[in-house]
Amino acid sequence: MISRAQIARNYRNVCSVVGAGVDVTGVVKADAYGHGALEIARVLIAEGVKWLAVSSVEEGVALRAGGIQQPRILVMGGFLPYEGPALVEYDLTPAVHSLEQIRQLDRLAATAGKAIRYHLKIDSGMSRLGTRAAAGEILATLHQSRQAELEGLMTHFASAADYTSPQTDHQLAYFHSIAAELRAAGVNAARLHTSSTNAIGYGRTAGWHNMVRAGHALYGYVSPARGEAPRQLLEVKPALTWKAKLMTVKDIPEGAQVGYGGSFRAPRPMRIGILGAGYADGIFHRLSGRGRVIADGKLTPILGTISMDLTTIDLSHTTALAPGDEVTLLGTEGESSLDAQQIARVAGTISYNILCNISARVHRIYA
Ligand SMILES: *Cc1c(COP(=O)(O)O)cnc(C)c1O
Repeated sequence: MISRAQIARNYRNVCSVVGAGVDVTGVVKADAYGHGALEIARVLIAEGVKWLAVSSVEEGVALRAGGIQQPRILVMGGFLPYEGPALVEYDLTPAVHSLEQIRQLDRLAATAGKAIRYHLKIDSGMSRLGTRAAAGEILATLHQSRQAELEGLMTHFASAADYTSPQTDHQLAYFHSIAAELRAAGVNAARLHTSSTNAIGYGRTAGWHNMVRAGHALYGYVSPARGEAPRQLLEVKPALTWKAKLMTVKDIPEGAQVGYGGSFRAPRPMRIGILGAGYADGIFHRLSGRGRVIADGKLTPILGTISMDLTTIDLSHTTALAPGDEVTLLGTEGESSLDAQQIARVAGTISYNILCNISARVHRIYA
């Protein structure tokens, strides 16, 4: 179940932390980190969001086709040559990662007979997407450009929550030097944006400019910091609760082996429950024998190997549960809670990965 009200509260919290004058772009890529891109887009639109961001042209087209007409949509992953016409047709704003792409957009705009706005991404040191061209080269390309219109300058931080590393300061300094050189030559992009959740949460205000891109925070998370971080400013809470139903409850004798490979052997007579959810639903296989779920309000271990469609849990602490009853895989139940960061630590991954991994066959219910 996904709480629309909590998503809205998280969005408002991000807005209030960055303050008036800074637009909060709602990042809804990867189906809104598993929360459902269309639904989340609608919640954010009701809150007055001006920008949404997705990863690919395909994701942008899906939003438009789903009826999202109003806010601007930034395609952060940019576009491939054959996707140019779709940008125009669906009114998507691409992040551009090379000077060649500016020329391409210019030709596209000439053909379409209308201006195309884009955001130029600067590779300020992450060595992922973005251009490493010097300001002079960028200016030369901009001067030749007729219909493609530079609306934004952006970059992305590799280590915004890491206060043992100077990388964010270096990236920001590089980004600012490019922006200043462009400005000195009369090129003023209307939008500057460099910060996502961690740079917002840890108050890297020099990176806020007039726009930030928030994803994880909208879903209730800020990554833990490394080193001596300042106070974390965001007060966001998870909006998603993930439950699975018990298929069977049974008692097994001491010594019984559980699941594939018999990797768990009951040390005493036990009551176990078989959940109708497995790694095909997004429960990480790595949680086999080490993860936990909440059953009848208490944290209880996953026993043995997680199967594709089934997961066995310990129910020795309760007689209250029967087939059809629900167990919480992620969320709060009674006094217990389990969030994506806690699960990620046990699974050896990150909270983003836990959320994005909840598969399409898990029904999303909105409240
Ligand atoms: C995913 C992404 C974001 C959002 O990051 P969060 O940490 O989820 O806030 C922002 N910018 C870019 C370029 C991204 O790829």
